[in-house]
Amino acid sequence: MKIIEKLNDGKVHISFEVFPPKKSEDFDKVMGAAKKIAGLHPSYMSVTYGAGGGTSKNTVKIASQIKEECNVEALAHLTCASSTKEEVRKVIGQLRDAGIENVLALRGDIVEEMAFPSEDRFHYASELVEEVKKSGDFCIGAACYPEGHVEAEHKEEDILHLKHKVDCGVDFLTTQMFFDNNIHYNFLYRIREKGITVPVIPGIMPVTNGNQMARIVQMSGTILPARFRAIIDTFGENPAAMRQAGIAYATDQIIDLIANGIKNIHVYSMNKPEVAAAIISNLSDIIKE
Ligand code: FAD
Repeated sequence: MKIIEKLNDGKVHISFEVFPPKKSEDFDKVMGAAKKIAGLHPSYMSVTYGAGGGTSKNTVKIASQIKEECNVEALAHLTCASSTKEEVRKVIGQLRDAGIENVLALRGDIVEEMAFPSEDRFHYASELVEEVKKSGDFCIGAACYPEGHVEAEHKEEDILHLKHKVDCGVDFLTTQMFFDNNIHYNFLYRIREKGITVPVIPGIMPVTNGNQMARIVQMSGTILPARFRAIIDTFGENPAAMRQAGIAYATDQIIDLIANGIKNIHVYSMNKPEVAAAIISNLSDIIKE
């Protein structure tokens, strides 16, 4: 089933994310976690893609097992920055053959040590969106950044690039994580004003480990509100307390989003079934049909 059909049905939808293992010997462990998350009956599950393409087979395999064996709709991520067009086309073919109907089309992060294949590559996600669109009957998602993408000098320019990407054939957007919902509401206002009308799914990260934050902030440029920083300062060295506080903070964000009319929420559950289960339990009466 195409995810866009769910997003437009007026019900509350909670989705979760898993990432594939870097080493093949860890496949069963990751698949075990994915199956436990699938057992919570999320609206769909997304499977990330290693930017270098090295874990691409696992992305296809995990997405396909989630769909076929767990009966949960799967969204397979796909990046293009470090692969040739031919390599990307091959993965699109594998997704199509595996019956995956939903693809999150991404450029991928550009990191210094990255080896670029050649000029024969898709430079921006918008080009990948066009390629996926002409390669099959896929529902296509893409990324967006309420605080602006880290490389973008001006937020307005970033939104114009986003508009172009959506016009290339995007059905829905998922946001980078944020820890202050007002940033999201403000972003929605600005993109709607620029004519971007597709559903936007906020991405919420339950932070369960204080040490995660330094890397997250560096990679995403996310602002940490004082209320959230106080939680990390107070509980960061106490794993059990940090986990409880991080889940509570994420739950609070989700409830506020739903109370403000946002019905589709993606949770960056990071292969942690216990975190996904705690979020679902905290929302049990809210998401009841
Ligand atoms: P783009 O949309 O191509 O934008 C990248 C930058 O280029 C932006 O600054 C944009 O303003 C600019 N730009 C776009 N078009 C043009 C143009 N025509 N001219 C000039 N500038 C332009 N990474 C992974 O490796 N694997 C994953 O599975 C993954 N999943 C993600 C899921 C979500 C929901 C999000 C938000 C991010 C994810 N990422 C993932 C990270 C993502 O790959 C990076 O943030 C990457 O740096 C940008 O990807 P993009 O698809 O947004 O790029």
